[in-house]
Amino acid sequence: MSTKRDYYEVLGVGRNATDEEIKKAFRSLAFKYHPDHNNGDGAEGKFKEINEAYQVLSDPDKRTAYDRFGHNGGEAVFGRGFEGFDFGGFGDIFDAFFGDATTGARQAPQRGPDLNYRVAVTFEEAVFGCEKELNISRTENCSICHGMRSRPGSQPVRCPNCNGTGQVQRVHQSLFGRFATSTPCSQCQGEGRIIKDPCPQCRGTGKEKQQRHIMVKIPAGVDDSTQIRITAEGEAGIRGGPPGDLYTTLSVAPHQFFTREGNHILYQLPINFAQAALGAEVEVPTLEGKVKIKIQPGCQTGKVYQLKNKGIPHLNRNGRGDQLVTLLVVTPEKLTKEQRQLFERLADSLEPPPG
Ligand SMILES: [Zn+2]
Ligand SMILES: [Zn+2]
Repeated sequence: MSTKRDYYEVLGVGRNATDEEIKKAFRSLAFKYHPDHNNGDGAEGKFKEINEAYQVLSDPDKRTAYDRFGHNGGEAVFGRGFEGFDFGGFGDIFDAFFGDATTGARQAPQRGPDLNYRVAVTFEEAVFGCEKELNISRTENCSICHGMRSRPGSQPVRCPNCNGTGQVQRVHQSLFGRFATSTPCSQCQGEGRIIKDPCPQCRGTGKEKQQRHIMVKIPAGVDDSTQIRITAEGEAGIRGGPPGDLYTTLSVAPHQFFTREGNHILYQLPINFAQAALGAEVEVPTLEGKVKIKIQPGCQTGKVYQLKNKGIPHLNRNGRGDQLVTLLVVTPEKLTKEQRQLFERLADSLEPPPG
């Protein structure tokens, strides 16, 4: 059932090893996979393997079960796999070994934070695309020392507290013996170097605030809340890391009479009774000027005319949507005397609508 390595093999001891030999092997392997002696890559998994092997082989009952049934011994004798045992105190030991691995990582170069700005565009700009100038304020590497933090011409010196390693060792007493753990040096903040003569421009921070004008290319077909990423235009990186990204989130202003539905543009066309009854040729506004449409005699409110390819371009592919023109038959609210007479004559000759 198992591709797991033999516990004796994991600890590098013979099957007849004494408790003392097993303990000794565990300690030396535990030291070996300490992250200080090791980049930490795979060390954590290795340590877990060693720990599991040790927890089983150092317990007489579990060792007997393992000797008889191998890795199935936990299941066979105790009703659960060896890896399922809650190995008491494991967390503490584990932290003693690996707790510092994470703080150590903090000293590595880090990517700078991202920036996010809102950009307002008109309906038309969103449809056809545009270029916008964005005024941003961001942290950059100092223009005088280029982030080196020292006055140009001077050099940082090796930190005397940690001898340039950036880490100070502390020795802990634990259940399994003495373990050295390291913490970032407080004097140099883990950098191993101290700035003796700080750059006067940035006062040794290596950073300065800058106002920048960034041109943002907004592609045709974007919508409200579309986010555009401009790579590496965010805040400067930390300890020489790359800069973050700049995100722009679009706010598209509503149009006077167009609305948007996906890639279609919706437009409501008001017509009067006579146009609806007799048919007409009317002009309809589109984003690219007026077009004429023919209204059939006898059309109703709600009838939709489709203007092919007058809609919004697809953002990441060719083609575009349509403009959908919906008729709205408008009842006159005020009539002249003459119009009133005409309607009265109509009323006599028209049948009331069915239903
Ligand atoms: Zn500087
Ligand atoms: Zn130091």
